[in-house]
Amino acid sequence: MSANKKVRVRFAPSPTGGLHLGGVRTVLFNYLFARHHQGDFVLRIEDTDQNRFVEGAEQYIVDCLKWCGLNPDESPQVGGPFAPYRQSERKASYRQYAEQLVQQGNAYYAFDTPEELEAQRQKTPNFRYGLDNRQGLQNSLNLSEDDVNALLEKNTPYVIRIKMPVDETVNFEDMIRGHVSFDTNLVDDKVLLKADGMPTYHLAVVVDDYLMKITHAFRGEEWLPSAPVHILLWEYLGWKTDMPQWVHLPLILKPDGNGKLSKRDGDRLGFPVYAMNWTDPKTGDVTKGFRELGYLPEAFINMLALLGWNDGTEQEIFSIEQLIEKFSIDRVSKAGAKFDFEKAKWFNHEYIKKSEAASLKPEILKLLKEQDIIIADDEYLLKVIDMVKERLTFLQDFWEQSSFFFNTPEAYDLNAVQPKWNDSKTEFFKILSSEFAAFNTWEVPEIEADFKRLMGSNSLKPGDLLLPLRVMLVGGKFGPGVFDIAALLGKEETIKRIQKAIIAFTEK
Ligand code: GLU
Repeated sequence: MSANKKVRVRFAPSPTGGLHLGGVRTVLFNYLFARHHQGDFVLRIEDTDQNRFVEGAEQYIVDCLKWCGLNPDESPQVGGPFAPYRQSERKASYRQYAEQLVQQGNAYYAFDTPEELEAQRQKTPNFRYGLDNRQGLQNSLNLSEDDVNALLEKNTPYVIRIKMPVDETVNFEDMIRGHVSFDTNLVDDKVLLKADGMPTYHLAVVVDDYLMKITHAFRGEEWLPSAPVHILLWEYLGWKTDMPQWVHLPLILKPDGNGKLSKRDGDRLGFPVYAMNWTDPKTGDVTKGFRELGYLPEAFINMLALLGWNDGTEQEIFSIEQLIEKFSIDRVSKAGAKFDFEKAKWFNHEYIKKSEAASLKPEILKLLKEQDIIIADDEYLLKVIDMVKERLTFLQDFWEQSSFFFNTPEAYDLNAVQPKWNDSKTEFFKILSSEFAAFNTWEVPEIEADFKRLMGSNSLKPGDLLLPLRVMLVGGKFGPGVFDIAALLGKEETIKRIQKAIIAFTEK
């Protein structure tokens, strides 16, 4: 790649279902790299395998990217100079390259029927179409030219396969893994063009990366075994000097044990592995996503960036602008990154804590509406959000942490107060509420000062009174500072709650 070529990267998903964390991280690294180099980020939909097509999967991917704020510069939706960006719509452009490879002797027609191939599989354990057995099968390597032409004339279905070279080594430099080499004898003769005229992924990915002038190909490490086929195609098609630099990203691993983090691990351990909820259109099964859990997109991005990358310091919180500035492939680790849900929670907590109440409000209102909770007083809601946000891991925790601000407690944690409840406490709270009633203003310092003064003059200790006051206002032993709660609830409501609770605490 020449030094002054504009950076162009692509995320090239097959629309077969929900987007896994690993997929979103691939999007993110593409995006960060493109933005860092003032390059272009392309979304290309690789939908040539009609059998795996899933209704709604493309829209889901588009929505995910939008939610994450990782918007492509070119895509089926926004168009661009290399449109169309859906491979099924580019069908007509691939055949010529497959035919070129056949002419050059780098590929061949294979007429074997599915039944014949199945019979081979039954006969030979670990059957692979390639070096070991291609000479005995129904293909243009064995059949005479006349036979091949006759078959073609009769419209006999065929596929075009790459002819893997014998005893060669394919070498390449991966920007993360360094030098990689493959023995061609170990790779089978992959299908390039299918009987329905559609290219397979292997042909389409190479042709489109070339035509779309992709300079860096980021993808998950699971694609590494396909790389030798792709590299040979780049070479055979005469495009080697334009080949993108390869960036095979390490896997995201299970939190426990080894291996790639899967949807099943999420179900087993109780956390989502998809970006957003995904509903399988056939079965109706819902796979949970981070978005619906009340995860903030900024936190999601930050958490994902740190799965396999760091800037060389201890810093963990990065805005998207900082990530763009600091991202470099040199600092992506070669080893897989273990997913840690506790750490993921920490990121979200940090982001909620530092968010403005106003920016959290719309999502909170949406979540409340889903539970049929309507909050009319906007000003008050904002104050409540401000007060409880540092206690939230997910936005969904909001109601649990704050319902007492909207509803007077109906029940109390009596075990926390009754054993030590006595007449002097009843007396204290009665006087306190009548003193409060005389207040003209209602601010934290004066509420607290009055409480403490009265406490001192009754020779009572904070330990005796603060917990009962909290239970009176909240119903339980949790929540923000108790005087802050009182101030926000307002004078009337505070007095009302104290009086109501005195009765409940005194009852046996
Ligand atoms: N279509 C492949 C996928 O579904 C893309 C692999 C690549 O980026 O080359 O992930």
